Amino acid sequence: MPIRRLSETTVNRIAAGEVIDRPASVIKELVENALDAQASRIEIIFRDGGRTLIRVADDGTGIESHELSLAVERHATSKLTGDDLVRITSLGFRGEALPSIASVSRMTITSRARGAKAAYAVSLEGGLLSGMRPAALALGTVVEVRDLFFAVPARLKFLRAERAETSEALDVVRRLAIAHPGVAFSFTTADRQLLDLSAASLRERLPELVGMDFLPNAVEFSGKRDSYAVSGLAGLPTFHRAQGNMQFFIVNNRPVRDKLLLGALRGAYADLMTRGRFPVAVLAVDCPPELVDVNVHPSKAEVRFRDPALLRSLIVVTIRDVLSMSSRASATNFGNITASIVRPAGPLTPSQRAMAFEAQRPAAVHGFAEDPVAPILPENAQPLLGLARGQLHETYIISETAEGFVIIDQHAAHERIVYEQMKQQLANAALRTQPLLIPEVVDLDPVSAARLEAESEFLKRLGLIVEPFGTGAVILREVPAVLCGGDYAALIRGVAGDLSEMPAGESLEQRVFRVLATMACYHSVRAGRKLKIEEMNALLRDMEKTLNAGQCNHGRPTHVELKLKDIERLFQRR
Ligand code: ADP
Ligand code: MG
Repeated sequence: MPIRRLSETTVNRIAAGEVIDRPASVIKELVENALDAQASRIEIIFRDGGRTLIRVADDGTGIESHELSLAVERHATSKLTGDDLVRITSLGFRGEALPSIASVSRMTITSRARGAKAAYAVSLEGGLLSGMRPAALALGTVVEVRDLFFAVPARLKFLRAERAETSEALDVVRRLAIAHPGVAFSFTTADRQLLDLSAASLRERLPELVGMDFLPNAVEFSGKRDSYAVSGLAGLPTFHRAQGNMQFFIVNNRPVRDKLLLGALRGAYADLMTRGRFPVAVLAVDCPPELVDVNVHPSKAEVRFRDPALLRSLIVVTIRDVLSMSSRASATNFGNITASIVRPAGPLTPSQRAMAFEAQRPAAVHGFAEDPVAPILPENAQPLLGLARGQLHETYIISETAEGFVIIDQHAAHERIVYEQMKQQLANAALRTQPLLIPEVVDLDPVSAARLEAESEFLKRLGLIVEPFGTGAVILREVPAVLCGGDYAALIRGVAGDLSEMPAGESLEQRVFRVLATMACYHSVRAGRKLKIEEMNALLRDMEKTLNAGQCNHGRPTHVELKLKDIERLFQRR
């Protein structure tokens, strides 16, 4: 084939492949443009998961009529003054979002520049521009994107279900809204308003966007070194999550997902948090624009810092300091992993009342099989895991077997039992569920609530009946019987986090197992709880049943056995 230059439309579609991979990225580009135009209010309409309509309206500076058709041309931008890419203060600068979106959709831009007498509109279909016409608009800019990806059917096939795309887009808006608390935002789908935020401070915005319980469980930090400044709120180590999706990183007002920042945050909590758990945090970095390169990633999710080592150490030291101060201040509360609910003053919400109700239940029932009394073993029975002799560090059970002894990780063991029980029941199509006497309202954030709602059918199969409850909250009506009496709010948060991390190509079965594992984990006896000998033995007997059921032993080990002959070797008796 001869070499030929690609047409403008083809070039734009190729660029769109990088920049616009799903409806959420359209939202990101359009909202960033509105923020760059100094908007004070941004209204988003998002229909059918972004397939039929994405509309972003702002009250920003607008586009001059004679520049409207230039704005949708490739590599046309008003945000770079010279050829120098070192001092970027705007969110956009590549000049490719509008042409890319236009090349794969039907797009209309209506705008009225500040001080202009009239508004004008241009429309594009599959990238082809039709003429400019006068339009009605009081101020700002409205971009309407219809039939996204109609021009690239291959992309259409990769779109996920409506609700999944919606919660993805909502997450993008949430991150931008955290980075720009002074701007009002609304986000509306065909049937509901999912966000309605007025201009506020960061602190005021967080309960709605990160969750009601974040502020009472977080400490503020700020630090400076050379030209870098860091600030934000760090969740207490007791307020951890199974996923890292509640970490918000902002660099010069730009939400990013940067490896250096992720690593630094992990470093700050290094020995304060159990492995495999993630802190919740908002971390903002501010520095002169020339100290950070934002032109290393097409959607600018990653950045590169001039002095990564300095920044890393600034973050680790600043956050570690405030955390250690707060741990000294509340030494008694610290380490008690289950008691991290701090009640704000004022009347209790229904969910708090329900929690208080839960808290009054006798502790011994918590998390255990109905019958806590040790089953009587037949004479000279040789139980696989022996007889419990005691507990060490309120975490490990020691049991004596005929041939040695076994150390059992009580949390891992209980988690495995609950998990296998649910799996077994599900396999026999007999998952036993329990309606809650008092349905529990769980306050989350709008993204998590939307995700849970999106997956409510799936969750129902796993025994969780969850319904929407206003914006940013859900009501839990039914749970699997084996999970009865646990911390339902933590359970629901864990599951929501899990749903946010669906690996591509995961089979339904894998997904079922993954969510069941999370449910089991949130429910299980935490390390750090004192057990009675009968409880320990009940746990061992349950474990034996699980082991005998021939289930494969995946995940981390639940127990370790030491044979007498190994111990004798240790002491050189042999
Ligand atoms: P970039 O943001 O990288 O400059 P875009 O393709 O996103 O590129 O936008 C092209 C230009 O159109 C921008 O530089 C800006 O001048 C103008 N523009 C786009 N959206 C808006 C908006 N909402 N308000 C005002 N001007 C806008
Ligand atoms: Mg842009």
